[in-house]
Amino acid sequence: DNHFDVLIIGAGPIGLACGIAAQQVGLSHIIIEKGCLVNSLYNYPLNMTFFSSSERLEIGDTPFVTTLPKPKRAEALEYYRRINGKFNLNTHLFEEVIDVRKDDDLFIVITTKRQYTAQSIVVATGFYDVPMLLNVPGEDLPKVSHYYKDPHFYANQHVVVVGASNSSVDAALETYRKGAKVTMVIRGPEIGTRVKYWVRPDIENRIALGEIDVYYQSRLAEIKEETVIISTSGGTIEIENDFVLALTGYRPNFDFLKKIGIEIPNESPMIPTHNPETMETNIAGLYLAGVVCGGLNTHLWFIENSRIHADIIMQHILERKSSHCAS
Ligand code: FAD
Repeated sequence: DNHFDVLIIGAGPIGLACGIAAQQVGLSHIIIEKGCLVNSLYNYPLNMTFFSSSERLEIGDTPFVTTLPKPKRAEALEYYRRINGKFNLNTHLFEEVIDVRKDDDLFIVITTKRQYTAQSIVVATGFYDVPMLLNVPGEDLPKVSHYYKDPHFYANQHVVVVGASNSSVDAALETYRKGAKVTMVIRGPEIGTRVKYWVRPDIENRIALGEIDVYYQSRLAEIKEETVIISTSGGTIEIENDFVLALTGYRPNFDFLKKIGIEIPNESPMIPTHNPETMETNIAGLYLAGVVCGGLNTHLWFIENSRIHADIIMQHILERKSSHCAS
């Protein structure tokens, strides 16, 4: 039937960890994922390298073997696919959770395919689905993307990369090496401080040698079919442009969180209301897990430090269950 002790929304690394933790304490579970398995990781840039070493990405006490100091995207996809299989998790893919309602002590969950009921809900929906927008004219042109995948696509094109984070720096370097004419537009005075230490010298040398152009203290003012307008510290300029990679960060889907009743403060960092001791939200029996917990502060949580949410949540579910039986 369609009733479970725990219904987990999201089959990212932390959603999978929650499925394993539920199984280990004898709670029936289902994991519902709108995309493919570990959908966010699948949508990472093809050639990306994790900043975490592989043991920091491990869940289910299962070794993540790689011969590299830091694993690549393809290895992580294979690791989590093997985990999902090894633990025989009840993972339903390409099925989106549309709504969650509470009827007395029971949750009713509506998805794009069917309806479920559950005693407890874990929201492990991450932050990669909603890009931070530039809010400039032309941002919705087809030449603009907030996600970067494969450098070859940009061969011999004029590419503007907005942002100074790891994703922007990786995109600038990789597309440059595919013959793109790359211009970076950076709001701050320098390349982001969080750029991976082994990448920083590379981007700094390309800039110093004039192989990649960069405008610091600048922002994209307008995007047109064949050019972009940049407002720089020295005035406004218009340059030839074929593609814009606006890699300016991501944020949780607050609309979805609010729709299911989670209280979100209006002011930044808009951390969804939850008790850090139990991960329970303002709704009894509805929990948060993983990087969604950080709200706009997407540098607060990552796999290494949020995989423990799984055990914290399951322990609390068991306590609630036993206290209900007692009462
Ligand atoms: P996610 O992996 O984002 O999983 C959330 C899942 O929920 C997604 O699969 C999504 O499709 C699904 N979902 C959302 N809404 C719904 C819905 N309504 N119904 C059903 N399913 C839904 N972290 C690290 O620890 N180490 C790293 O080295 C690292 N490198 C990164 C590199 C890049 C380029 C990026 C963007 C992030 C990186 N991160 C890294 C952060 C990483 O994304 C998170 O640590 C990790 O994905 C968190 O796992 P999660 O399960 O909390 O969220």
